[in-house]
Amino acid sequence: MSSATVIRELSRFAKTTPASSQFAVDWLRKVPQNPNAVVCHPASTTAVADVLRWCSNHKVPVVPQGGYTGLVQGSVPHGSDIAVILSTRKLQDCAIDVSEQSMLCGAGLTLAHAQDSAAASGFSFPLDMGSKHSCTVGGNAATNAGGIHVVRFGSFRSNILAATAVLSCGSVVKAGNGLRKDNTGYDLKQLWVGSEGTLGVITDVAVALHPKATGRTTLRVQLADLREVDTLFSVARATFGPLLGAFEVIDAAGLGACGALEDDSVAVVAIVDVLEFADAPVHSQLEQFSATVPPNFDVRVAESGESQRRLWELRETLPVKLASMGPIYKFDLSFQREHFFDIVPKVREMVPPSVLVTGYGHFGDGNVHLNIVDRAGTQDAHIRGPVTDFIYSRTATLRGSISAEHGIGVEKKAAFHSLCQPQQLEMMRQIKQCFDPTGTMNP
Ligand SMILES: Cc1cc2nc3c(=O)[nH]c(=O)nc-3n(C[C@H](O)[C@H](O)[C@H](O)COP(=O)(O)OP(=O)(O)OC[C@H]3O[C@@H](n4cnc5c(N)ncnc54)[C@H](O)[C@@H]3O)c2cc1C
Repeated sequence: MSSATVIRELSRFAKTTPASSQFAVDWLRKVPQNPNAVVCHPASTTAVADVLRWCSNHKVPVVPQGGYTGLVQGSVPHGSDIAVILSTRKLQDCAIDVSEQSMLCGAGLTLAHAQDSAAASGFSFPLDMGSKHSCTVGGNAATNAGGIHVVRFGSFRSNILAATAVLSCGSVVKAGNGLRKDNTGYDLKQLWVGSEGTLGVITDVAVALHPKATGRTTLRVQLADLREVDTLFSVARATFGPLLGAFEVIDAAGLGACGALEDDSVAVVAIVDVLEFADAPVHSQLEQFSATVPPNFDVRVAESGESQRRLWELRETLPVKLASMGPIYKFDLSFQREHFFDIVPKVREMVPPSVLVTGYGHFGDGNVHLNIVDRAGTQDAHIRGPVTDFIYSRTATLRGSISAEHGIGVEKKAAFHSLCQPQQLEMMRQIKQCFDPTGTMNP
């Protein structure tokens, strides 16, 4: 079937055009543009159902797409066969239930929009991440996104109350009813979470909101030894308890890439947010924290809103900065916290000095972003081969995960298949078959 035919047929349900690079090339620019991809913009759940039903009947693959900030090549079609990108960006519902402390979000709402709407009603939206101005709540659900607040609120999975999704056959399934407790049957909404578009299109989700903090204190803590971060985290968790809002780290190589490495004695910087609520000032906890950490830990308080903003900007723009320095290889690993930095120096020893190897990320969740930047552009085969093999085998040895929060996408499919227990893989295949028997969803 030609793309012109697909465009003509799908235009009966929603605006459909040839896909420009804006939709067909992934954020990391690793997937060559599929010249036969078309993009379709349904504006309602009914229109999504019509599009999926037609595609399933005609065996045309569909790739759901939100903000296309995904980092594992799952949000764009690969190859050159005809494929439909189903953009969710027109699904913009947004309604807050103040008494239930929840928010119904259309799948295409950006995370920043959801955060702003929640804040305007006096709540905190549970998620935050550097891609918030582009990524969508539907994409966050489909990837079980994490981000910098997991240490306090958990990942998307911990905050979803209900979801509407459309199966490839066009059937609309409403899973969950927004209740905090509901033990009737299987919890289907949790199957959508992290399904990365392989089981259908999520068109809306209800998300739990949280009381908004009245203030926050941001700490920058410089350490001379990577192993000291675990001690710092233990003290922070014990001192601040549920007021610990974020605990992120950047190693010396990452700081150097941003021009933020003060001197060679610094091994790592931790950025720590402590939340404050009107009825519970945190002065005494902050004093206790400073008194408890070992004296060689260099603890500084961001004194102004501006220095607080700059600290977080450093962390949030780091992925963009690294991606601009050369071909980048991203590994999104998780471990027990004591192993957080285990792999980073070992990988550095495997590559020439022209290759930048940095470890940063969500220490509170044991989620290290190991980024390798091939600044000279000469090490592709070595990094894709022996270095990647080492990273995955070491991760398996340490009983870690090769995808903490970004998902599997296309990039990690082979590694996932080789590392996943065969029985689990078989169960996942059966679930896929049940939801998407024609195999058209994100094949
Ligand atoms: C600078 C930067 C920082 C980031 N920081 C973080 C971070 O801290 N934590 C984190 O977890 N991730 C992070 N990410 C990754 C990314 O932002 C998240 O994975 C995000 O949840 C993807 O949302 P999206 O709307 O862009 O989805 P897309 O990229 O469009 O899609 C991602 C996957 O979900 C599927 N999908 C999208 N929408 C739907 C839907 N409605 N129904 C079914 N399937 C769907 C797609 O097919 C694809 O497989 C970051 C990315 C960037 C570029």
